[in-house]
This record gives sequence, C-alpha cells and structure tokens, in this order.
Amino acid sequence: MADIETILAAARKHCDDVVKPSVDNWNEVGVWPRSASDQAAKAGLLGLYCPTEFGGQGLSLEDGIRVYEELGKGDGAYAFTLSMHNIVSFAVCGFGSDSFKQKWAKKLTSGEALGGFVLTEPQSGSDAGALVTRAVVNDDGSYTITGRKAWVSLSNEADIFLLVVKTSDERGHSDIAMVAVPRDAKGVRFSERYETPSYNFLPLSDMHLDQVTVPADHVILPPGKGLGGALMAIDIARTSIAAGCCGLIEAALDTALSFASQRNMFGKTELDLQGIQWMLSDVAHDLEISRLLYRKAAGLVGTPEGPVAAAHAKLYAPDAALRAAATCTQLLGGYGLLKPYQMDRLSRLAQMLKIVDGTTEIQRVVISRSLKNRAKDLGPVTMP
Ligand SMILES: Cc1cc2nc3c(=O)[nH]c(=O)nc-3n(C[C@H](O)[C@H](O)[C@H](O)COP(=O)(O)OP(=O)(O)OC[C@H]3O[C@@H](n4cnc5c(N)ncnc54)[C@H](O)[C@@H]3O)c2cc1C
Repeated sequence: MADIETILAAARKHCDDVVKPSVDNWNEVGVWPRSASDQAAKAGLLGLYCPTEFGGQGLSLEDGIRVYEELGKGDGAYAFTLSMHNIVSFAVCGFGSDSFKQKWAKKLTSGEALGGFVLTEPQSGSDAGALVTRAVVNDDGSYTITGRKAWVSLSNEADIFLLVVKTSDERGHSDIAMVAVPRDAKGVRFSERYETPSYNFLPLSDMHLDQVTVPADHVILPPGKGLGGALMAIDIARTSIAAGCCGLIEAALDTALSFASQRNMFGKTELDLQGIQWMLSDVAHDLEISRLLYRKAAGLVGTPEGPVAAAHAKLYAPDAALRAAATCTQLLGGYGLLKPYQMDRLSRLAQMLKIVDGTTEIQRVVISRSLKNRAKDLGPVTMP
C-alpha cells in the first residue's frame, strides 16, 4: 500500500511539471492530453483506491481525495476528470465480477484505459432519478441497452463507461442498475462535442445507445443496488470536487499574494494596505473552511452521514472558489484581466465546479432533507 504523503508529493510534482506548464496549450488544442493521463498513471494517480494486486495504491477514500487539492492547483477540470476515472476504477475493483476485473482493473490503474461515469440524460440532470435509459435483462444475464445519455465527460476518449440504467418500466428506483459499456461496443455512438467556453481539453457530448448488448459479467451493480452505488459515487465525486476547489483557491491566493507583495503604490506595497490584507484574509478564511469541510466529508463517505457531509463541502467550496477568483482578479487590477495571470480561467472553472456532480442548489436540497428528518424527531417547542 502506498503512503499518502508519497502520493501527495507525486501529485504536486505532476501538477507542477505536467499540468501547469501545458494547460493553456491543452485548451487551445482542444484535445484530451492522453500523454498527461499516462504520466499521471506512472505517478500512481489513476488507481488511488484500488488494491495493489490490481496495480492500485490501496488508499482509503479519506486519504486519496486529498490528491485533488494538489491537482486543483493546476486545473480543476483536469482534477475532476481524474477523480471520475478513480471513481470508476474504485467501482470496478470493488464491485466488478472476477472476469471483468481481470480484464479491466489493471488497464484502468495503468492508464491504458480511461473510465467515465454516465448518469445524466437530456431530461434528467438534477432530477437524476428521472432517467429513462433502459436495459433489457436477457435470459443469459446479458443486458441490452437503449437510450441517450448527456454530458458524458471523456466522450469518445474513455475506453469504458459505467452507465446507470433502468431495468424495468416500473416507476421508482428499485430497478436501477450500473453496467459497464466499452466505448467500442456495437450500437454506441457519440454526438458532436459540446462547445464550451473553457476547459476545452475535456471532451463532452451526448452518448447514444442503440440496442447495445454487454455480457452478464459487465454488470457492476445489479438492479436494486445501482442507485445506492450511484449515490455513493456522487458523494465521492462531490467531495473530490470540493478538494479540487481548495487547490483552485490556493492558486488564486498565491498569484494575488505574489502580485500584491511586489506592486508598489502610495509609497508602500499593495500588500501593506489594510483593505487589501482583509480581502486576502477572507480568501484564506474560505480556503480553511473549504478544506475542513472536504476532509470531514472524505472521512464520512460511505457512512450514513456521508451524503450530508459531502453536500456541505460541495455547497461551500465551489462558491468559495468563485469568490476567490473574483477577489483575486480585483486585487490584480487591470492585470487580473490578462490571460497570463489565469484569473479568468479560474473563474470559469469555479462556475463549472458549482454545477457538475450536483449543483449548489441540489446540495441545499440534500441538507434540507436531513433537516426535515431532524424536525420529525423534535417535540413541540414549549412556551416559557
Ligand atoms: C463540465 C461538466 C461535465 C459533466 N460531466 C458529467 C459526466 O461525466 N457524467 C454525468 O452523468 N453527468 C455529467 N455532468 C452533468 C452534471 O452533473 C449536471 O449538469 C448537473 O447535475 C445539473 O444538471 P442539469 O445541467 O441538467 O441542470 P438542471 O437539473 O436542469 O438544473 C437547472 C437549474 O435548476 C436548479 N434546480 C434543479 N432542481 C432544483 C431544486 N429542487 N430546487 C432548486 N433549484 C433546482 C439547478 O440548480 C440549476 O440551477 C457534467 C456537467 C458539466 C457542466
């Protein structure tokens, strides 16, 4: 089993050597940087939660999620994508059939294959339970899937996708399953890539499935277990995004600190102005809160408290990242608007991180649900 400090150092080095120097070029070219994900695999970043027998690092979720704080200093979309891949690897190693694991686990941890997680559909984003992509369970246990998924990250680039599907026409969620679909399965087609204003290196598109048949050993979670599995995957994803947001806040803060300590005005440096110090203190304060929230959530994922803890982290950290990007842009004055300082890229990433894997509003829905449960246990308020 790898030591978390070694992996964090490897993530920091990957971010400094591979991500930061190249991300502008990746965005200009608009192609997923496969050589970067290959290097991430060599650095041990693509099988964080998988056992060593499958080439993974055997880390706990609590430790492994910290990797995204390091990667988020370079780019939040890159951190998000590697976190999705690691969730797929985790599900395959933890819940896949023996034959499926033998075929895919080492490919995923070595980066030879990349994984995508596919839940969203054109009509069901926040209301994920309204999905309609339908799998027919055949007599031999194979699944035949027909439907259309939306917002598929790494579309046409990942090699294997974990799809959340319905297996009956019944209402409700008890028939939901999770099934693996290789990119090259017969009947899979990707629509044209979405045009995004930033994070252009992340291919996104709809995925069409026309009578796609996969064998029984591709079922990762059978009907009845699929929804619970998908929700746990989402809790890991939300916590990972909150960690990535901490990296983003640190990147903005360090740029602003460096700038303000060098910029002379009114006979001193900008950093000597108390108004500026207070703005930076607020950013540092937001960073501290976001970090505490994601680390608490990382320790609780998979327990009954996990969903609400992940919701608190995902509610707070992306908004904090958006505030940090805006504040630090302002601190740089006109220079904050120039491309080399990267503030515009950080703002767009923070806005994206507010939406992906459950919007800020949906986090409030999750927290409110737990408050309603708590209210049920309270007696009437006694008047004095
Ligand atoms: C860059 C990117 C990558 C993505 N990658 C993937 C992926 O790989 N796999 C995948 O499955 N999905 C992916 N998604 C989809 C993402 O998870 C959804 O976009 C997200 O869940 C929101 O769904 P929606 O876009 O359909 O918005 P909607 O659900 O249509 O929401 C529209 C607005 O209504 C608000 N709203 C919704 N319900 C409520 C409510 N009850 N109360 C108050 N407000 C509400 C929302 O907060 C939002 O502001 C990706 C999205 C992005 C932006």
